[in-house]
Amino acid sequence: MEIRLFNNLTRQKELFKPIDPNLVRFYSCGPTTYNFLHVGNARALVVADLFHRTLKALGYNVKFVRNYTDVDDKILEAARVRGIHPKEHADEFIRECAKDMDYLGMLPATATPTVSETMPEIIQMIQDLITNGYAYTVKKENGAEEVLYNVPKFADYGKLSRVQLDSLQHGIRVESDKEKKNPSDFVLWKPAKPEEGWSWDSPWGKGRPGWHIECSAMAKKHLGKTIDLHHGGVDLMFPHHENEIAQSEAANGCPFCNNWAHNEFLNFGSEKMSKSLGNVVTIRDFVNKYSGHVLRQILLSVHYRSKLDWTEDSITKAIGEVERIHEFAHALEIVDAKVVDDMKETNEVKKAIELIKAELANDFNVPGALGVFFGVIKDFNRHSKEGASAAYLKAVMEVAELMENATGLVHQNPKEVLASLNLARKNLSGAGTNSSEEEIEKLIAERKEARATKNWGRSDEIRNRLNELGVVVKDNPDGTATWTYK
Ligand SMILES: [Zn+2]
Repeated sequence: MEIRLFNNLTRQKELFKPIDPNLVRFYSCGPTTYNFLHVGNARALVVADLFHRTLKALGYNVKFVRNYTDVDDKILEAARVRGIHPKEHADEFIRECAKDMDYLGMLPATATPTVSETMPEIIQMIQDLITNGYAYTVKKENGAEEVLYNVPKFADYGKLSRVQLDSLQHGIRVESDKEKKNPSDFVLWKPAKPEEGWSWDSPWGKGRPGWHIECSAMAKKHLGKTIDLHHGGVDLMFPHHENEIAQSEAANGCPFCNNWAHNEFLNFGSEKMSKSLGNVVTIRDFVNKYSGHVLRQILLSVHYRSKLDWTEDSITKAIGEVERIHEFAHALEIVDAKVVDDMKETNEVKKAIELIKAELANDFNVPGALGVFFGVIKDFNRHSKEGASAAYLKAVMEVAELMENATGLVHQNPKEVLASLNLARKNLSGAGTNSSEEEIEKLIAERKEARATKNWGRSDEIRNRLNELGVVVKDNPDGTATWTYK
């Protein structure tokens, strides 16, 4: 099936032609693991999962790589505050991110490399850039060296983001770093500071990489020198993706990526949602209150290249849609076929399958696919009451499977999904504001019971669940337990 994708390199919708006709090499920039992810991060994750699923559902093999940035200033700082090794801190939040991705119904990626495990490849690529004349070193204190990318050396700089190098050079404030040859040059390797507690040996002394080089090195390691599709949030286009192109093409001497896709922001109120605005809602908070199905439904209900307004109405609407889809999925499980002639209806459903595929092949148009899908559901609800043939039900089943595989918006266990919506509605109406406290009290009582019967496995499980809810339990000498939020 022909797929047309909007390619940000050309700012046009184009026929998607992977280098290898049956295989898509796909890279998406992943999260920095210093804390729980906020809802704003979820859109990029779910959009990458949509690309992965849809390409597979439309017949491609997909090698999908999404990184974890586990070496970063924020991680070093958080670990220092906690008095633990930065790797321990980063690994803890890699596990939490992975849980969030499960709640969001994401398929596992082919590879999820970390910066710390990719260090030899990162160092090699920086060396290649120096050898090829695109990077230079600057002496710092204690004989350590910093490595910088010489941006004006790369003639194609700006080809993705369309920034003009001249205006860029003038626009950047003169930094204290006087050794930089050009204001736009960026760091590939920086010397370690003694208090940071995590560094690597390199030809330039102990240090760690700048942010941009990791994606270039990981893409090459897992996918090769030229890839078919690269994705990230639109905020990453400049400078991150521009710098990835500059690094990869200068080091490898060939094109880095043929198609670039960027998802738009999530708008919280009318402002871009970010932690600095104080609009903090973590994915975990949202999942505990409304479920991952509802979050996925919200995130995919708008085309990935459109801004998505985050409002209470979007939650209400998504709950209704998740319910409609899973009442249908449940009804489809239990309905019996009748001997009737419904060839006309069956052909309509078969047409719908092709229409859904066409919508998805049109730059991943999920809203379009959902429109067709809801039409099939409406038809099924009416027709299955009159009595539907085995052929009709088989075709409807195929629609459900296609939507499940390509979008993840249909879940395997509809009854479980429907049950989760009761809590979502309760929380949305505000009637359930105490429900998490009720759950905590119940868990603590259960934990007491488990400890009394020496059921340590269950007791540990409960402690982990309480930890997820942000609760600290204190065991008192008299055998009672008290709790507070962390
Ligand atoms: Zn990246």
